[in-house]
Amino acid sequence: MTAIYSGMRHRGRVKVLQTDIGRGVFAARRFEPEETIGEVRGRVMDDPEYASTYCIEINANRSLEPFSPFRYLNHSCEPNCELAYWDEIEQKTGERQLWVQALKTIEAGDELLIDYAWAADAAIPCLCRAATCRGWIVDVNDMARLKERLAEEQEQATVKELLSRHG
Ligand SMILES: [Zn+2]
Repeated sequence: MTAIYSGMRHRGRVKVLQTDIGRGVFAARRFEPEETIGEVRGRVMDDPEYASTYCIEINANRSLEPFSPFRYLNHSCEPNCELAYWDEIEQKTGERQLWVQALKTIEAGDELLIDYAWAADAAIPCLCRAATCRGWIVDVNDMARLKERLAEEQEQATVKELLSRHG
């Protein structure tokens, strides 16, 4: 029921469309910089081990499994939106509200894109095609750790190859 409610709430503001990499969220009207586009609704998972394709980490022990439409927000290294927590609400109910906010002017029909900013150990190659693409879906502050991770993986692969050649 919540998911249906959420969909109705966002009608006229955003829509979910098929893209060449799966579903994406698109602006149904123009948004100004810093304008709130909508609330991310979903199920809060109180499990540090919880992981899924769409989940958003809230803190070390909690993540949010978002409902449509914002479930389908895709990543870009040059995002036009960001996720913002509304901490005032947290004090009242113990729950944080999560909002999608415009970073720049967004025209109707533009795809809404956020920077997933994943940790180095979760990073995967990025295909966002932005001019400033980092090549990986990774937190910009975690690039050095990602390079370390890749160097280690390379080393392990080389050792494995040598072992298999001489084993
Ligand atoms: Zn990218």
